Amino acid sequence: MDIYLDANATTPVLPQASAAALAVMEETFGNPSSIHGTGLRARALLDRVRASARRVLAAPTGQLLFTSGATEGIQTAVLSALVELRSRRDAGGNAPTLLLYGATEHKAVPAALKHWNQLLGLGFEMQPIPVGPDGRHDLAWLAENAPRAGLVCTMAANNETGVISDLDGIAAALSGSPALWMVDSVQALGKLPLKLIERRIDYAPFSGHKLFAPKGVGLLYVREGAPFTPMLTGGGQEGELRAGTENMAGIAALGAVLDALEDGQTFHDGATLHRHRAQLASALQESFPALVFNAPPDLSLPTTLNFSVRGIASRQLMDAFDAAGLHVSGGSACGAAQALPSFVLEAMGLPAWQAAAAIRLSFGATHDSALIDEACARIRACGASLPANAGLNAARLLALMQARPTPRLVDVREPHERGATGVSPLGVGWVCESAPLSGLPHHLARWLELPAEVPVVFFCRSGQRSAQAARALRNLGRAQAWSLEGGLEMWSAPETSTQA
Ligand code: PLP
Repeated sequence: MDIYLDANATTPVLPQASAAALAVMEETFGNPSSIHGTGLRARALLDRVRASARRVLAAPTGQLLFTSGATEGIQTAVLSALVELRSRRDAGGNAPTLLLYGATEHKAVPAALKHWNQLLGLGFEMQPIPVGPDGRHDLAWLAENAPRAGLVCTMAANNETGVISDLDGIAAALSGSPALWMVDSVQALGKLPLKLIERRIDYAPFSGHKLFAPKGVGLLYVREGAPFTPMLTGGGQEGELRAGTENMAGIAALGAVLDALEDGQTFHDGATLHRHRAQLASALQESFPALVFNAPPDLSLPTTLNFSVRGIASRQLMDAFDAAGLHVSGGSACGAAQALPSFVLEAMGLPAWQAAAAIRLSFGATHDSALIDEACARIRACGASLPANAGLNAARLLALMQARPTPRLVDVREPHERGATGVSPLGVGWVCESAPLSGLPHHLARWLELPAEVPVVFFCRSGQRSAQAARALRNLGRAQAWSLEGGLEMWSAPETSTQA
């Protein structure tokens, strides 16, 4: 069975959402613009779903339009804002027209800004808002540039890293600025309180398929009084704000998801999600000692982990995960010919290798504990299967020596090489057993009998033979087999080392 861990890309459809969509296609199939009974029933459904969206989003005022998804919502918001900025400019008085967008925004945002700016022949200046190493916007920079800004676009949470924006900080930086403010809320739906009205957010696009509704349905919130220009005109649907017969099956499905959010029975609470993430994070750390997380967990959505493993390319890791039935995504954009480093991680100023080797693991609020346990077991198996992963640096060995259970230290050098180093060449009190590589087959069975959680750490003079030994043990299915990188040549014993 495959385990899907790419929920930030898209999610499966909730069974009750599929059922609601099917019921619309087969029964409540009317056109909500028709005035006969069939149409009126469809209209009632449309009104009911919009009312629950208003409750869930705490948006009793303003417009809440059904769209085809976030990309459409973003285009509509950008078009509306740019048309307004054009009339402010044409009215004279040096109205600010600078277009600002977070450096880590989803591509849909800068692409929409560029597209409409060009198409309308505006020539407004565009600038990315820098982010810090934690992925959050540079608020001092924003406050300094806000007086010149006509439109500011900042996402609520990042799709690659899960980093949650400081929306209150952004609102404060924008206070007094004439700028319109769009918050791409795709990754926040059902996960974060957006306080759209208190924060005076002008536009907030949402997408159904990121939260267990089907693809092709979304929402756009428009603050009461915010400028609006329809992107689609025609039959006058959605109060003339978005023409086209409504996607009733998608809307019904979205309604079922909103009901689930309201009744609190379907999705896990925050504490459970944090526990699941902590479990996955420990499995990753134990299995890949050279792993680093690319975003601070306390500032990120509890359903996202973005990490890189030094020495293992993201493609290699993804292949290993895929073979284990774990579907994660490369945190970097993969072109047809080559994997590009993640622009999000680059914008955060992370080292090039981290940006190039990133993996995103994102799970849903419906994954149960048994599935998370199984995912952790498979992550550990992946760790064991990657020979490149058997290296342990000095810091990691020191950490292992402090942890329980105590590692088994194995010297794979030949007896004549040991000279005067005795039984504790790594440090005073760190007792090691001797198992020269030439006689390794005789010893393997003994280590395989150890409890699975006991790490076996091999070392030699340079790290070459110990790597072979670790790989041999891993090939027999033991994940906790390691080799000291650089061997004794690169090792300097800690001053006070005790067998922990
Ligand atoms: N914004 C963010 C943050 C996203 O993650 C996505 C989807 O990947 C989009 C916008 C685009 O959403 P949609 O697929 O509904 O057009």
